[in-house]
Formats: sequence, C-alpha cells, structure tokens
Amino acid sequence: MTEKLYYIDCYQKEFTAKIKDLRALEDGRCGVVLDRTAFYPEGGGQPCDKGWLDDIPVVEVYDDNGSVVHITAARPTTETVHGRLDWERRFDHMQQHSGEHVLSAVFSDLFGGENIGFHLGSEAVYIDVTMETLSAHQAAAAEKAANDVVFANLPVESAFVAGGGLAGYKLRKQPAKGFANIRLVSMAGVDCCPCGGTHVAASGEIGLIKIRSWERKAGAIRVDFVCGGRALEDYRQNSAVARDLSVQWSVPVAEVPAAAERQQSKLETLTGQLLAAKRELAVYRAEALYEKADSISDMKLAVSFIPEASAAELSDLSRAVLARGRAVVLLAAGSAELDKSHFVFACTPGVPADMGRLLKKSLALTGGKGGGSAHWAQGGGSWSDKLENALREARSDVFN
Ligand SMILES: [Zn+2]
Repeated sequence: MTEKLYYIDCYQKEFTAKIKDLRALEDGRCGVVLDRTAFYPEGGGQPCDKGWLDDIPVVEVYDDNGSVVHITAARPTTETVHGRLDWERRFDHMQQHSGEHVLSAVFSDLFGGENIGFHLGSEAVYIDVTMETLSAHQAAAAEKAANDVVFANLPVESAFVAGGGLAGYKLRKQPAKGFANIRLVSMAGVDCCPCGGTHVAASGEIGLIKIRSWERKAGAIRVDFVCGGRALEDYRQNSAVARDLSVQWSVPVAEVPAAAERQQSKLETLTGQLLAAKRELAVYRAEALYEKADSISDMKLAVSFIPEASAAELSDLSRAVLARGRAVVLLAAGSAELDKSHFVFACTPGVPADMGRLLKKSLALTGGKGGGSAHWAQGGGSWSDKLENALREARSDVFN
C-alpha cells in the first residue's frame, strides 16, 4: 500500500519517498512503486498526474490494488527519489473536477437532473445529466447559479467516513458498494458526494465556470463546460474571433451577428444572380458554338475548350447545342489551378459516331475515369496538360 499524500494535502507539489518496487517495462521504461506519493493515479473520471521522479519524467500513474505505480521514462538508480508534480496539469484537473461538482449540484438542485457521467480530457470536459431537454434559458440559469457558488468562495473539504456512518450526510449520489471507508468531498451547504479526486480548497479557486454547449446523447443531456484557466483560454479565443470579425466588417462586436446575417443574405442574392447569368451565358454559348461549328453533310461538329466551366456546365451546354439541331459536341474543361479536367462528348442519336469510344481514347491520354454510351459520354480526373491535345485528337477521330 502506498501512502497517498494527495489525500492529506492536495496542494503538495513535491515529496521525498523510498522506492519499494521496480517493474521493468518495454523501451527502458519502468513501473515504480514508492512508500508514499503525491501523484494522483487515474481514477473517478480524473486523469493521472504527470511530473518527475528526480529528473526522470513520470508519464503515467495508476493504482494497482492500493499500490500507486508510476510509469517512468527510465529506471531510477537510487533508493530514494524526489517527486515533483507537473503542477499546472494537476491544478487544471482540480479546477475542472471541483467545477464539475458545483455544476452537477446545481443541475440536481434546479432541475433534478442527475449526473451519470463525467469526462475530463485534455480538450473537452463534460457531464451527462439525466434530463429530457435543456433550454438556453435553463443552461444560463445553471451557469449563473454555479458561478454564484464560485463567487461565494465556499470551503471545499474532504474526509474519510466509515461506510456505516453515512446516515447523517445528505449525499448527491450514493457511494459504490464494497468500500469500508468512503471519502466524502463537500462544499459547505452546496454539495456533498463520494469522490476520490483532488479538489481546490475553496470554490473561488475554480474560477469562472462556462457552459460551452450541450446536446442530447445516450439518453441524457451532455453538457460541455470549462473552468478556471480553460475558461480564460476559451474566452481569449472567442474574443479574438469576435474582434477579428468586428474589424473585418467594421462594426462593433455586438453587431457582428447582424453583419453576418447581412453578408449571408447578400451572398445568397449574388449566388442567385450568378446562376441566372450563367444560365443566360449558356444560351449564348450554345448559340455561338452551334453557329461557328463546322458543317459536315447534314450535321454540325462543335468543339470547344472552356477552362473554367464545371462538369455540370459542360453537360448543360452539350444539351443546349444538341437541342438546336443534328450535331456532335466535343467539350473539355479544366485548369492546373483547380487540378481538374473534364470531358463531355455528345451527339444526336443515330449519328454514325461512338462517343464512348472517343472518351476512352481521350482519357487514355489525360488519365481519369469516365464512360458512357455511343451518343453521350463524360469523365475526367485531375489536371492534365494533354487536355487540349486529347480534344484535338477526338475531333479528328470522330467519324473513324
Ligand atoms: Zn468527484
């Protein structure tokens, strides 16, 4: 059994301990068991501490039946070691974990929602609360009540209580069965629940509690939140985004949503106008293409390379040309910039030519995929500088 210094004082950052056991692991790593430790092993939703034993990095810590095992990057060579926590990491976990207790207590008090899940990751922190729905108004009320607890700077205390002595406590959740001693973490009058994690000494140290989003997940409401240092970072990022948009659109931050809405509607109008103009252009293009096309007996042979056209525009244009009379239409589009190339080969049914065969030959030159029938074939791929060459060859090969 390792003496758990983090249960005596959560703020102990350094300690000296004797090595009790060394377990050789792969890659020169080692499992180190000490007689005492301030390193918190992973458990109860809280990730493990990291830090150093002397100068050897501690990369992972876990509990093995009461013995705390420190996975170190190398094997210690002394009998005693000086342990030092990565305090920034530990204090962040204390802020998030204590904040989780506050938020869970508030959801229970305000809405009767029970916390049935807690995740504290390096990026996200969330709780799962048994509620059917959560409105923006309710989320704001929970956030306000949680921050009121922070501002009241209430003491956070922990104590081990014998399993049989819990009757006098009003617990937010019941302890797991089978433990002789239960550790209770309480926040004066706000919350009391069984917990093995590390916590701040007073609620004020949690710092701001900010709910970022929520969604319905696994039969509960998953509430994503951040506390303390993470809330500050979140605020810093969000305010930078708001400031950038405000400068870009030359409006005060409060008017950014309205400016975004105006931009969106302007974009929709312009997109509509562009589509209408493109449709009109297609009519003229089809007309010009048909008029300029070579006449071969009773039909037209229209060939064109239109670099900027999309695959859909080539198809529309082909149809528009064919609608004007008996014809063969060989179109290509593409650019090195967009790294795209595309062919549409089409002819009036009954014309003695095979568009599928022509396309196959063109694609053999440029690469890419595609296919079709004797009177309609299309395909393409990434950009090829042989595109125009392939189109020329298709033209000379139409009636072969
Ligand atoms: Zn807890």
